Amino acid sequence: MKPERLRDLHAHITGSIDADALFELIFDEKLYRSDKDKIDTITKPFGIRLASEITRNVETARMRFNSLYPCRPNGKTEFDSIMKRFILTSYLLEKVPDSEEKIGYIVASRFKQQNVNYVEWRINPLSATLHQTAEEGLEKLCHFYDGMRKVANLDSKLVLSIAKNQYGKNWRPLPEKIKYLKLELEKLLKAGTGLPIVGLDAVNKDEITIADLQGPLSLAENYGLALVPHVGELCSKNLETDLENVETAVGFGAKRLGHAVSAYIPLKRLLGTYDNTGKEYTAQRIQKLKLKQDTILNLLKENGIAIEVCPTSNMAAHLGGIDYSLHPADILHKRGIPIVACTDDYGIFGSPLSSEIDILTKYKHLDRAMLIKNSKTYSINQFKR
Ligand SMILES: [Zn+2]
Repeated sequence: MKPERLRDLHAHITGSIDADALFELIFDEKLYRSDKDKIDTITKPFGIRLASEITRNVETARMRFNSLYPCRPNGKTEFDSIMKRFILTSYLLEKVPDSEEKIGYIVASRFKQQNVNYVEWRINPLSATLHQTAEEGLEKLCHFYDGMRKVANLDSKLVLSIAKNQYGKNWRPLPEKIKYLKLELEKLLKAGTGLPIVGLDAVNKDEITIADLQGPLSLAENYGLALVPHVGELCSKNLETDLENVETAVGFGAKRLGHAVSAYIPLKRLLGTYDNTGKEYTAQRIQKLKLKQDTILNLLKENGIAIEVCPTSNMAAHLGGIDYSLHPADILHKRGIPIVACTDDYGIFGSPLSSEIDILTKYKHLDRAMLIKNSKTYSINQFKR
């Protein structure tokens, strides 16, 4: 039987480095010796003091790290634990020589081994740079892509992710920073025509609304990029804002949406809980929100917008469940909204794309061939521009 050709349309480069590769980087660079305390401190939240354990017994340390690093659904929402894993990757990006090229190569090779032939890699070009300038961002993208392009028969595209949490505070936008972001992003897009940049995204906690980012996001249209933002991830000030963000993104011409769980989760569970501003979700409020969800699901269907569903990430980061059969992906399917299965952060969640597709077929009875076909239909390189 011919191996399946899979496409991952939502994979963050830094979240895609798996435990095995992280271990190798720490081991090969001897960081467990030269930076022992730092490695122990960063890995402690995962339940291991990695440098100390490597010093005692390499193989036991490797085995334990491989089982402790992945963030599997465990019944709680694990947003903070997930973020702590990014501290380790950021540290390695800073410490390991030629880290971007190495990591680009490692993640691309791993995906290729897992029968993935096309990836839209998400990357924030301006994060962890000294001055958040276009020049620094471009250099970073080039280094990552240099690593990726070494992997044969894997079509790597780049989607630029803007970190929403850096352009607002206490749910209010920082207009000067947003203006600067637009300027630098535009310079980067003008200079980066040699790179396969195909999309624009907005990630992280919704300290600001999608409407606040209209300036930078409008660059997508001006530069022929697809707008594929993370929206409605239940991390804005309240569910009303989450749903408004989904609506705004569609209004801005988004082609696909990342997660957008707020548009289709059952709302009963919110009754009597409080939003991030301390206001209670009353029965009356939930009733209104349900009507809004209904309007939004119709809007998604009418506009043919696909939702990037990342089952393991959704369970661990958004839904806090342990039983995949409770993932509400079937609601999207019933309402005629296309689903594309994606990994989000393969390294952090420890679940490759084929397993994420398996989850949707096994627990939600979605058709495997349909999911694979959707990943092709809704790839950015298939959109007519
Ligand atoms: Zn994501």
